[in-house]
Amino acid sequence: MTMKQPIKIDYDLRNQLNDSLHMPLECYQCGSCTANCSLNSIRENKITIRKIFHQAQIGVKPDKLVWDCASCKFCEIRCPRQVDIVDTINELRKHAYRRREIPQEFEPLLWNILEDGNPFGESQSLRFNWAKNLEVSTDLSDKDVLLYIGCANSYDPRLQKVVRSLVNILKKGNINFGLLGNLERCSGEAIIPTGEEHYLDVLIQDNVDEFNKYDISKIVTVSPHSFDIFKRLYPEFGLNIEVQHYTQLIQDLIDKSKIQLFKTEFSQVTYHDPCYLSRYHGIIDEPRNIISSIPNIDLVEMKNTKSNSICCGGGGGQIFRDIEQDNRISNLRIKEAHATNSEAILTSCPYCIQNFEDSIKVNQNSLVINDIIELVAKSMKLEVK
Ligand code: SF4
Ligand code: SF4
Repeated sequence: MTMKQPIKIDYDLRNQLNDSLHMPLECYQCGSCTANCSLNSIRENKITIRKIFHQAQIGVKPDKLVWDCASCKFCEIRCPRQVDIVDTINELRKHAYRRREIPQEFEPLLWNILEDGNPFGESQSLRFNWAKNLEVSTDLSDKDVLLYIGCANSYDPRLQKVVRSLVNILKKGNINFGLLGNLERCSGEAIIPTGEEHYLDVLIQDNVDEFNKYDISKIVTVSPHSFDIFKRLYPEFGLNIEVQHYTQLIQDLIDKSKIQLFKTEFSQVTYHDPCYLSRYHGIIDEPRNIISSIPNIDLVEMKNTKSNSICCGGGGGQIFRDIEQDNRISNLRIKEAHATNSEAILTSCPYCIQNFEDSIKVNQNSLVINDIIELVAKSMKLEVK
């Protein structure tokens, strides 16, 4: 007969966790989070938040699955004790980082941001290459709006097309905007899931100091992840400038009749809500209003939609990890989109676009993946290369 090993309790860890984590103490182990984890609907190795929190409560090192959470908050809205599940996961990751116990994939990511200003290790001097031949200013001295592009959009050729379209839309809408060009650096959103805290603070402060040099009234982001970090963390470091996601700005342009929309090749589309817009910030109507403003287009909702939308699987640092094909939640989302009989799945986040493009390729699905920016550019008859 084999004897079960006694549970090893690390009392220092328990004290540290109990000092910094108040919310897991609220957890009464109902298991609703595990049952409702959107990723668990496709994974064999389930993310057991209930168990991870129990480990934290008693001072046992949390399970490695703590790194698999996509920070989508799908489970949070179903927790009967309103536990801040994602904040707690991030706190547990910080503790793991202090012990230097982080997934291998995150180490180069941190060095890349430190050395090159982006998680991909691309050259800082090439950051603005996406704007080649576009007449767009990096002189912010007389501008109202700073358009913040973000790392994935700056370097991924698929996403560069999206930001080129956005520049053309803003020009047509007579927005007085400029960019940081090669001075733009990572917003820090890619650092949060690694659990690193100190360099994150330094980077945020550097960015805030850069933004505050200009007499701008607004920062507009392309990515919901930059939008989120600018809104949630930057004010503590002295950012006092309005921040908008581009969907809010485009809706404003439409409401003020500053841009004109015509029918496109699509007659039926569906929309995927990025978690960091819908569940994090309640931006649910703006993308739908934009789509509905386009003539001859029907928006058909998927089974899980708005604040109940399932995740694309890219948050919480998962976009930087090599997730096994069968474990990708984006496959399930594409199936949901396909079931609406739509010609295209629209979204408003670079990570969603990347994940859906991958799933479409692997599953040989005929759905078109477009960012809302691309739909609006088509509808304005803007030629974008
Ligand atoms: S749903 Fe909330 S209370 Fe229930 S196990 Fe999860 S965190 Fe704890
Ligand atoms: S935040 Fe999302 S991925 Fe993380 S445990 Fe909750 S439902 Fe699962």
